[in-house]
Amino acid sequence: MRFTAQDENFRSEVREWLEANLTGEFAGLRGAGGPGREHEAPEGRLAWNQHLAAAGWTGLGWPAEHGGRGVTLEQQVIFYEEYAKANAPARISIVGEELLGPTLIAHGTPEQHQRFLPPIKAVTELWCQGYSEPGAGSDLAAVATRAALDGREWVITGHKIWTSLAHLSDWCFVLARTEAGSRRATGLSYLLVPMDQPGVTISPIKQLTGTAEFNEVFFDEARTDAANVVGAPGDGWRIAKATLAIERGAAMLGQQVGFRRELTDLAELARKTGAARDPLIRDRLARAWIGLHVIRVYALDTLDGTEEYRASVLKVLWSRWHRDLGELAMDVAGVNGVVPGTAESDRWQRLFLFSRADTIYGGSDEIQHDIIATRGLGLPR
Ligand SMILES: Cc1cc2nc3c(=O)[nH]c(=O)nc-3n(C[C@H](O)[C@H](O)[C@H](O)COP(=O)(O)OP(=O)(O)OC[C@H]3O[C@@H](n4cnc5c(N)ncnc54)[C@H](O)[C@@H]3O)c2cc1C
Repeated sequence: MRFTAQDENFRSEVREWLEANLTGEFAGLRGAGGPGREHEAPEGRLAWNQHLAAAGWTGLGWPAEHGGRGVTLEQQVIFYEEYAKANAPARISIVGEELLGPTLIAHGTPEQHQRFLPPIKAVTELWCQGYSEPGAGSDLAAVATRAALDGREWVITGHKIWTSLAHLSDWCFVLARTEAGSRRATGLSYLLVPMDQPGVTISPIKQLTGTAEFNEVFFDEARTDAANVVGAPGDGWRIAKATLAIERGAAMLGQQVGFRRELTDLAELARKTGAARDPLIRDRLARAWIGLHVIRVYALDTLDGTEEYRASVLKVLWSRWHRDLGELAMDVAGVNGVVPGTAESDRWQRLFLFSRADTIYGGSDEIQHDIIATRGLGLPR
């Protein structure tokens, strides 16, 4: 990836804007939120996210005719990296802005564009993803939530699980079976469902970290307008896969800046506690540093998204790297790592505990291995 003079101007613009705006009421939000820490300052982060939107920093990659800025992939990378370098608060609008928005742009009707894209971009409506069910995770085609048309409305009944940020969301995109008796990937539809209604119950699930970022969501004859189906009824599998392809795509570069911060802070902790004198700890820290460089090079090389299995390689690389970093953090922290209480120990414990999830969400390691084996290596299923 080569950055032009114009890109470098864009970088300065992003950097200066963040510097000037992460001040006043927003100054205290630096570093807040993100995986494992979504409970931190949700209201402040929403206000920040709306402030970003008002200044035109949301929907960066969306085409201009849909209200976006239509910036190049290079400039999107620059934005994510600078955003992470500034330690700006984790955006609360990611599911809507990065998953549903692009899906609607590609597959939605003009009416859906008009109704849903502006509030996603302005961050006045938040979204969650209703795919997984107790009996349908890796095997997503086993979805059992059902929906049927009743006059001008879909009526939805079923049980979704692990729905991240459902408790903060206004809407959910739901994969539901709309053809009675259909099996597997056929007969599914991709429905847009409002969360604030009597037929929707949200029940938080407490994680290892002690916080609850995801939820069970029960639909009990919940309703949505007949027009709120993306793609044709029965074509939901294709649309759901399109969203997943986006999910496994870019936007990973900023995350790696965050990883680098964790690693350099951990090296600092190792110096402070004396753990850095242990040759095995030094060795693991050095290997982590190398691993991070490999991930960055691979991520840049994968950005064009030409070979789908490469996104799986990247997922395995970063999720294992991060999980290993959590284990290393515990070894560096030593006895303090297992004692709760201080902000410092809490940080590393949370990393250790939450990074267990990295090899599960967005497609588990085993599923990624299957994709690499079949599509990358051409092995039989
Ligand atoms: C932090 C977090 C946030 C999430 N957020 C959301 C969300 O917002 N919306 C949403 O819809 N879902 C969400 N999920 C759910 C996530 O997509 C699923 O957890 C994931 O797809 C795995 O499904 P499962 O949990 O049902 O596990 P299962 O599919 O039951 O898998 C259990 C184990 O069996 C292995 N396995 C399964 N099938 C195979 C196979 N064919 N070959 C080899 N091994 C296999 C898996 O790798 C895993 O180790 C989230 C999960 C986490 C952890």
